[in-house]
Amino acid sequence: MSDYALLLAALVSLLAGLAIGKAWERYKLRGGTWIDRRRARESPHYILGLNFLVANQIDLAIEELTRAASLDADALEVHMILGNLHREKGQVGKAITVHQALLQRSRLSKLEHAYVLLCLGLDYKRGGFVDRAHEAFNEVLRLDPDNEYALVNLQKMQEEQHQWVAAYDTRQRLTKLAAAGAQPQNQAILAFLENEIGLEAVRRKDYAEAARRFQDAIDLDARAVPAYLNLGDVRVAEGNEKDAASIWERLVHVAPDRAYLAFDRIDALAKRTGHPERFTRLCRRLIDENPQEWRARLALSRHLAAGGHNQEALDLLFAALVQNPHALSIHQAIWRALAELRHPPALVDRYGDLTEHAVFYLDPHVCMRCRYRSTELLWQCPHCHDWNTFVEERIAPAQDASEFEDLRI
Ligand SMILES: [Zn+2]
Repeated sequence: MSDYALLLAALVSLLAGLAIGKAWERYKLRGGTWIDRRRARESPHYILGLNFLVANQIDLAIEELTRAASLDADALEVHMILGNLHREKGQVGKAITVHQALLQRSRLSKLEHAYVLLCLGLDYKRGGFVDRAHEAFNEVLRLDPDNEYALVNLQKMQEEQHQWVAAYDTRQRLTKLAAAGAQPQNQAILAFLENEIGLEAVRRKDYAEAARRFQDAIDLDARAVPAYLNLGDVRVAEGNEKDAASIWERLVHVAPDRAYLAFDRIDALAKRTGHPERFTRLCRRLIDENPQEWRARLALSRHLAAGGHNQEALDLLFAALVQNPHALSIHQAIWRALAELRHPPALVDRYGDLTEHAVFYLDPHVCMRCRYRSTELLWQCPHCHDWNTFVEERIAPAQDASEFEDLRI
């Protein structure tokens, strides 16, 4: 786990701890003996421990909080944070022992019970005890039906196990709890889950159900790109190529930045139906609409090169290279075109000029949330598990940007 993720997890643990701390205090106030219960939190070890936690010095935080806890065996939140820190350090067995011991306490309020169970569920999840984690999160939700943290974790586990229908239901519960402003994001996630349910139907060859699911995904989120791709594939499988073409065209229209994902499909369909010019027209339109569009240039250059127009293809590739000097696919196509033209020195020199300051990458994408890098576009991040967070990564020169200005077309 990265330092950042560890810090984040520790802070989440801290917040959960503080929330339960409040509940704990209220509970003890009702009991009438709350002053005695504050010993742990009034000790300097508690504050020191929290300071170390915020500074991401987990070992020292554990040390201080252990001392604070030893002053008051009843201090629920201190023990809970300690258990969470053990888990984040990878000492899952220890974390489970701590949290299970807390569960044994009599006189836990319903809310306290739910919080400890939540911690225990996270321990089980971290330790790979999937069934027990499921059980714990479901029990939390029985005690506290609107516990968003339990719902989020449950959904992630259901996704990991490809229980897409269950994950969809869980996300729907979260959606009902979310603020109005968060609805578009929730609709988008629901659309991805619908798309996965549709893919399962495709694997069963239940095309009617699959088409329904993909259409639902598009209705939930008009930019549900994979649903368009898959719905078109279903139409092709059903022999309805005309519908497939119009679905993919709609994708190009609603998400031109992702249009390239449909290029191979549209190209193959255009050729099969005897209208290859439909695809080249589409590429030219995309380039006209967005001068930064390099993938359409690359795709169009392939067509031109296949027809023997290597010089024209190369011009397009140089223009694409200026927009994205890090795409290896452009470089490869340039070398193929240069070879066809037998390496005219002027064009080889031009290539050299254009690439002088570029750093080579495959086709880099980066998760906006956790900075995870991938060589392709992923819909769900394998690191932070968030949906639709990948953007194409372009590395700009740190200095002298003006040098590049005159190269931009
Ligand atoms: Zn991520």
